[in-house]
Amino acid sequence: MTVFKGKGVYGAIASGKISVFKRNEVSVKRVSVEDTDAELARVEDAKAQSTAQLQEIYEKALKEVGEANAQIFAIHMMMIDDDDYNESMQSIIETQGVNAEYAVAVTADNFAEMFSSMDDAYMKARAVDVKDISNRIILCLSDSEESADASDDKVIICADDLAPSETVLLDKDKVLAFVTAYGSSNSHTAILARNMNIPAIIGLGEEFLSAVKDGQQAIVDGYTGEIFIEPDAETAEKLIEKQKADEEKKQLLQNLKGKENVTLDGKKINIYANIGSVDNIGAVLMNDAGGIGLFRSEFLYLENSDYPTEEQQFAAYKKVLESMAGKKVIIRTLDIGADKQVDYFNLAKEENPALGYRAIRICLTRPEIFKTQLRALYRASVFGTLGIMFPMITSVTELQQILAYCDEVKAELKAEGIEYSDKIELGIMIETPAAAVISDLLAPMVDFFSVGTNDLTQYTLACDRQNPNIEQFCDIHHEAILRLIEMSAQNAHKNGAWIGICGELAADTTLTERFMRMGIDELSVSPTLVLKVRNAVRNLDLSE
Ligand code: PEP
Ligand code: MG
Repeated sequence: MTVFKGKGVYGAIASGKISVFKRNEVSVKRVSVEDTDAELARVEDAKAQSTAQLQEIYEKALKEVGEANAQIFAIHMMMIDDDDYNESMQSIIETQGVNAEYAVAVTADNFAEMFSSMDDAYMKARAVDVKDISNRIILCLSDSEESADASDDKVIICADDLAPSETVLLDKDKVLAFVTAYGSSNSHTAILARNMNIPAIIGLGEEFLSAVKDGQQAIVDGYTGEIFIEPDAETAEKLIEKQKADEEKKQLLQNLKGKENVTLDGKKINIYANIGSVDNIGAVLMNDAGGIGLFRSEFLYLENSDYPTEEQQFAAYKKVLESMAGKKVIIRTLDIGADKQVDYFNLAKEENPALGYRAIRICLTRPEIFKTQLRALYRASVFGTLGIMFPMITSVTELQQILAYCDEVKAELKAEGIEYSDKIELGIMIETPAAAVISDLLAPMVDFFSVGTNDLTQYTLACDRQNPNIEQFCDIHHEAILRLIEMSAQNAHKNGAWIGICGELAADTTLTERFMRMGIDELSVSPTLVLKVRNAVRNLDLSE
């Protein structure tokens, strides 16, 4: 038995086989060949295999996400058959006498460069697609073994770290736990684990990666942050007992469904849920959340290989609003950049991405993206109770510009005779110290604040939320953060606005009393933590 200890970021226990996360990247070498015909035949075989894979993905996507979203895979199939693309591969093999992999890789680079240099935004975005299909063909050529998660077994995913764009592609039904060598408590892998109610451990270090192998049996204890590889019988027995007790405790919380979020002395608070996708609505309803306090809309962009259209977005927002049947749904506008990178945005590499071109900064400088999203949101608003929230605010000027865009979109829709609700609430995230400090100026301009403690902590304590090496300096209960929240709450209430917390701290039950004493009106947490927070609220007595 080998034991590694890191930091548990979601308390749960799971046992099963390890699957080491593989990035679909292969390094391609240039090899001279005699038999170019054989290489040409290999390309044809790999293309046929790729097309068959894409057909399967297309059909799955058609069922799960609909025609518009599945379309991209049909485009990929057409691209594989494109004459210019095929002629280029053929000519490289024949004239240079090289291997198929090399010809595909060079063709991919040339075509991607050509697409990137085009003025038309649609054609520019095709650069990512040509890389994508070429990578698929190269993988088929390299005859790479099927990854462990190709089977039906659920697995413990072990990785160096996982980017949000990688987590969206994982088949979530097959994941038992996340275990990473790096990462941080506020990373999106941790957030995803909480959403999925599965254990997650981060920061196990470099040695873990070299020790762990596909197919090993392991038990993950997200409470202690330990992973036991090939556990001995005694350890396994103890942990299975612990898992049973844990599940029973979680089961007990189920009795709180349908009960109010009210303290022993009668003070109430709203407990909402955070989601990243329409697929999470089931968990929101099952855990009896009072609404959705944060829909991270950027995941719609992360899941796509091109800018989601107004229609695609409208369909997603409408579905969330309808499913929540009149309960409040707060959708946050796009928060791309920093740790959430999307190729087709073509964002430049930055020295300090967290301090760079992200979120509202992209929206205010690329209004065509922002207005498409706002139009979809306003159109969807008639299907439920919508709140729109803007991320990464630092100034009054930004908010004035945002509100002007909202007015512009409303005027356009009115002129087109398209309906929208006149009851939409507009709010901002308080996730920079600047926003908290000027919350007295911002509050009169909005209906609500929602505190993003993940970023507020990173910016207040100057601690990169992605860097596990500095976690010891990142005191999530730091008085500075709590004072900024309290200050924002006072300013919100003085100006008739309400205030919620949607960062991970909202679910920290050691702070529930303090938050309630500050007058926080809403806590928005991962769906699986709603009942735990309800339990904490119901055991408080604020009259003492
Ligand atoms: C936050 O910063 O606290 C937040 C909720 O937003 P995200 O984690 O998506 O940056
Ligand atoms: Mg944030």
